[in-house]
Amino acid sequence: MNRPRDPLPASEGRLDDRLGRPLRDLRISVTDRCNFRCVYCMPKEVFGADYQFLERKEILTFEEIARLARIFRGLGIEKVRLTGGEPLVRRNLEQLVGLLSRIPGLDLTLTTNASLLKRKAQALKDAGLNRITVSLDSLDDAVFRRMNDVDFPVAKVLEGIEAAAAAGLAPVKINMVVKRGENEDSILPMARHFHGSGHILRFIEYMDVGHTNGWRMDDVVSAREIVEMISKEMPLEPADPNYTGEVAERWRYRDGGGEIGVIASVTQAFCRDCTRARISTEGKLYTCLFATAGHDLRALLRDGASDEEIIKTVTGIWSKRTDRYSEIRGSQTVKLQKIEMSYIGG
Ligand code: SAM
Repeated sequence: MNRPRDPLPASEGRLDDRLGRPLRDLRISVTDRCNFRCVYCMPKEVFGADYQFLERKEILTFEEIARLARIFRGLGIEKVRLTGGEPLVRRNLEQLVGLLSRIPGLDLTLTTNASLLKRKAQALKDAGLNRITVSLDSLDDAVFRRMNDVDFPVAKVLEGIEAAAAAGLAPVKINMVVKRGENEDSILPMARHFHGSGHILRFIEYMDVGHTNGWRMDDVVSAREIVEMISKEMPLEPADPNYTGEVAERWRYRDGGGEIGVIASVTQAFCRDCTRARISTEGKLYTCLFATAGHDLRALLRDGASDEEIIKTVTGIWSKRTDRYSEIRGSQTVKLQKIEMSYIGG
C-alpha cells in the first residue's frame, strides 16, 4: 500500500540545499514550556519541577520572530507553523499571529495540544491564523490521561477542536502519535470518531526524536499497519498529495467519509523532499528535526545585523545542507545527543 512520492520539481532562482531541496517551510518554536508531560515527549522524570526552562530574556521576542519570518519569506518559504512546547502557553500569542499575518503570501498555521484552544480559537482566527493542527493520542480517557501524564481529559480537547472549527479554522487536522503498547487500541476508535466529521485525522509513527524518550524500533506501529487496520473496517484508497513534499500520505475513505493521513517518518523516510527549516525558542536555526546542533540567529539579531547579513548567513547554511537522518537511521544514530522535540518544535 505504499504510494511513491513525487520528486521535487526543479526551478531556477530558488534556494536549494546540496540535495536539491528548496527552503519552503519554517517551523518556529515559541516556547520550550508545555502544560502536558506526554510520556514520549517530555517525560516527568526529565522535565520535572527542577528542570531549567529558558529564561524570558533568552527567548526570541515577537518582533524578532516576525523579522526572521519576513526574511525567510524573502528566501522562499510559503508556510510558517508555530509550535513548541505548547504554543498557546506563550502569553498573547495572537499578537505574534497578527504580526506574521501581515507578511504577504504566508500560510500561517499552529500545532497545539488544544488545552487552551476553546478560549483562544476565535482570537487566533481574528489575528490571521489560517489553519490549526491538534494533537490527540486517544479518545479513551484513561489512555489519554496516562499519555499526557497531567490527568488532562479528552473532552476538553474535543471542545477545543469544535471551537477551532466554529471559529473558521476548519478543516482541523488531528495528529495521533501511535506507540505500541500505549495506544494502538485507540487507532480504530479515533478513525471511527473522525470519519465523516470534516476533520482530518493523521497518524504519526513514533519517532526517536531527542534522547530522553527511550525510543525502540519495536515501539513503532508502521503507517502500513495502521492503513491496513482501518481499511479492513472502512475501506481506503490512496489520494494524491496536495503538494510535493507534503509530510502526510493521504488516504481517502471509499464511502466518501473524508480522508486520513499517515506520517511514516520512520518506516518510509521522506528526507528526499524535506523542505523544512526550524527555529528554536532561543533563535537557533536547525535544518533537521534530528539535529544535534543549530546555528545562532539570535546573536545576529541582537548584535544589530542587517537583513542582508542574516540572508547571507541563512543562505550559506541552507545551501550546504545535507541532512537525511531518517534515511540513515540505525543503531548508531539512535544514540546521538539529539535536540529535544519540545525545544526544537515538533
Ligand atoms: N504542544 C503542541 C502539541 O501538542 O501539538 C506542539 C508541540 S508537540 C512537540 C508537536 C507534535 O509532536 C505533537 O503532535 C506530538 O505528539 C508530536 N511528538 C512528540 N514527540 C514525538 C515522537 N517521539 N514521535 C512522534 N511524534 C512526536
